[in-house]
Amino acid sequence: MDFELTGEQRMFRDMARKFAEQEILPTLKENERQEKFDHGIIKKLAEQGLLAPHMPEEYAGLGLDYVTSVIIWEQLCGASLAVTQAAVSGPIQPATNLLDAGSEEQKKKFLPLVCKGDLILSGAVVEPAAGSDSSMIETAAVRKGNRWIINGTKTFITNGEIADVVLFIAQTDKSKGIKGLVTFIVERGTPGFSSKAQKGRISWRGGSEGSLRFTDMELPLENQIGEIGRALKDALRGIDTARLFLAAGCVGLAQSCLDSSIEYAKQRVQFGKPIGGHQLVQELIAEMATRTEAARWLTYRVADLKSRNVRHIKEMSYAKYFAAETALWVASQAVKIHGSYGTFDDYPVGHHYQDAITATILGGTAQMHQLTIGQQLLELAAFK
Ligand SMILES: Cc1cc2nc3c(=O)[nH]c(=O)nc-3n(C[C@H](O)[C@H](O)[C@H](O)COP(=O)(O)OP(=O)(O)OC[C@H]3O[C@@H](n4cnc5c(N)ncnc54)[C@H](O)[C@@H]3O)c2cc1C
Repeated sequence: MDFELTGEQRMFRDMARKFAEQEILPTLKENERQEKFDHGIIKKLAEQGLLAPHMPEEYAGLGLDYVTSVIIWEQLCGASLAVTQAAVSGPIQPATNLLDAGSEEQKKKFLPLVCKGDLILSGAVVEPAAGSDSSMIETAAVRKGNRWIINGTKTFITNGEIADVVLFIAQTDKSKGIKGLVTFIVERGTPGFSSKAQKGRISWRGGSEGSLRFTDMELPLENQIGEIGRALKDALRGIDTARLFLAAGCVGLAQSCLDSSIEYAKQRVQFGKPIGGHQLVQELIAEMATRTEAARWLTYRVADLKSRNVRHIKEMSYAKYFAAETALWVASQAVKIHGSYGTFDDYPVGHHYQDAITATILGGTAQMHQLTIGQQLLELAAFK
C-alpha cells in the first residue's frame, strides 16, 4: 500500500485546480443566478486533457487510471460539482456504455468527438415513472421492417436540452421486464426527437438538465447499441464510473467547504477572539475534516479496485453513499460557521450546500446504496 500521490498525479491535481480557479470560478456566481450552464467549458476541459482522463487513448481519452481521474474530478468539483458534472458526464456514463456495447463503427463515429469536446453526448435512462427502478421504463421501441419506431419521455437528463447525441434505453416488450430493454443512439435533428430545458432548480443551478420526447421517432437498425435484454448490464460499468465521479466530486465539495470554513474562522472575530478559537467551532472543524478525509480514502480505495478490475460493488456504494452524505453534512456546517454571510452567494459554501443535496440523489440515492451494501453483506435480496 502506498498512500503518496505520484508525480504525475500531483501534476494533474495542480492542473485541475488551476483550471477550476481560472475557468469555472470567475463566472460561476452569475451563471448560477441565471441558472445557466456554460457549455463552452467542455471544449476548454478537452483542450487541457481534463475532459476524458479515464477513456482509452484510442478514442481521444488520456487512458489514465481511475485514482488519477478521481484526483482531477475532486479538484474541478472543489469549484462546482454541478458545472463539472454537466461538463464531463458525456465521457463518463454514456461514453463508457458505448465503449462496452457499441460496434467498432459506432465507437469510432462518436467517441473521439465526445472526448475532444466536439459533440455533447447524454445518457437517458430515467423517465417520469422510472427513477431508481429501471424495470419501469415505458419508452416503447416497436420493430417495423428495417426500422424501430420509438415513443416515450425521458426526464432529468444531464444536458438533455443541448445534447447533440443521446444514448437511451427503451422497452421492446413489457412482458419481458428488464429482458425486453435495449439501448439506442439518436442524433439531434432526427424527426420525432424534441427536448426541453428543466428550469426552476433549487440546487445544481450551474448544471444542466432537460427532458426528452420521442414521438413516432424512426431509427434505422444500426442505431441499436448491443443486444436486446442486455441494456442494463451494458450500462453498468458507465453507471459505476458516474458513481465514482460523484464520490470524488463530493470529496472536492466537502474539502472546499472545509478550506473556506478554516479561513473564515481565523479571521471572523466574535467575543474578543477569532471564532476558530472557540472550542465548539474547533470541534466542528475537526469533525468536518475527519469525515472529509474518510470519504476521500473510501473513494481512492474503490478507484484503485476499479483500476485493477477487482470486484467492488459494496466498496463503490460505501464511497458514493458516505461521500454524498458527508458533503451535505460538511456543507451545512460550513454555512453555519459563516453565519448569515454563508447564506449569500459571495462565499462558496452556499452553492456547495445547495449542490450537495442533489449529489445524494443522482448516481443512486442513499437508500439504493444502503440496500446494495446490505444485500452484498447479507446475500439476501432487498429490492423486490
Ligand atoms: C442533476 C441531475 C442529473 C441527472 N442526470 C441524469 C441523466 O443524465 N440520465 C438519467 O437517466 N437520469 C438522470 N438523473 C435522474 C436520476 O438518476 C434520478 O433522479 C435518480 O435515479 C432517482 O430517481 P427519482 O428521482 O425518480 O427518485 P425515486 O426513485 O422515485 O426515489 C424517491 C425516493 O424514494 C426512495 N426509494 C425508492 N425506492 C426505494 C426502496 N426500494 N427502498 C427504500 N427507498 C426507496 C429513494 O431513495 C428516494 O429517496 C439526474 C438527476 C439529477 C438530479
